Amino acid sequence: MKPIIVAIDGYSSCGKSTVAKALAKYAGYTYVDTGAMYRATALYVYRQLGDGALDKEAILSMLENIHIGFVKTAEGQHVTLNGEDVESLIRTLEIGNMASQISTIKEVRAFLVAQQQAMGQNKGIVMDGRDIGTVVFPQAELKLFLTAAPEVRAERRFLELQAKGETPVLEDVLADVNDRDYRDTHRAESPLRQAEDAVVVDNSNMTREKQMEYIIEVFKGRCATV
Ligand code: C5P
Repeated sequence: MKPIIVAIDGYSSCGKSTVAKALAKYAGYTYVDTGAMYRATALYVYRQLGDGALDKEAILSMLENIHIGFVKTAEGQHVTLNGEDVESLIRTLEIGNMASQISTIKEVRAFLVAQQQAMGQNKGIVMDGRDIGTVVFPQAELKLFLTAAPEVRAERRFLELQAKGETPVLEDVLADVNDRDYRDTHRAESPLRQAEDAVVVDNSNMTREKQMEYIIEVFKGRCATV
C-alpha cells in the first residue's frame, strides 16, 4: 500500500498526540509532534530571555542557533534541543504558554514549518499540531480534526500534571486551556482552523479505544483509495 500523509489538528489537550502515536504505530509510520518543536524553541528562548516580555528581534536572531530533533528512547520519542533531550522540561504550563506566544511570530512558524515539510517528503508520516492540514500539508491524504469540550480537556490536563507530581489548580488549568484556545484560533499567522476536507472527531464522550477503532477504519478506507 502507498504511504500517505496523515495531518492531525485540534485544540490543546484533546489527545492529538495519543491518537497520532497510536496511528503511527499501527501504520508503521513516523510520528512528528510539532507542538514539541514549538515548545523546544520556547525553551531555548526562555533560557535566553526568561519569561519577561517577548523581544521579537532578539528571538529571530536566535533561530539559527536552534536545532531541533527527535530521538527514540525506551519511553518513546523524545524531542531534542541542540542535542539535549528536553522532553520533560518542555511539558510544563509555563513552556506551553511561552510556545503559544512565540508561535504567533510569522518567522518562527516559517522556520519550523520548513523543517516539518522536509520531514514529510517521503510520506508515511503522522504529524500533529494546529496548522498541519491547512498550512504544512494542505495536500495530506488524510486530515483529522480532534476536538473536545474545554472542561473535559482541562480535567485531562489536570490529571496529567498531577501524575507528573505537579500541584495544579483545576480553575487555573481551565483558564489556561481557554486562553490557549483563544490565542490559537485568533492569531494572525496560521490560526487553528478546521480544514474543509478534515474528518472531525469530537472525543468528549468517546473512550480512547472507540476513538482509535474509528480512526483506524477511516485511515484504512483512505489508504485503499490512493
Ligand atoms: O500541542 P502543544 O500544546 O504541545 O503545542 C504547544 C503550543 O505550540 C500550542 O499552544 C500552539 O500555540 C503552538 N503550536 C502551533 N502550531 C503547531 C503546534 C503547536 O502554533 N503546529
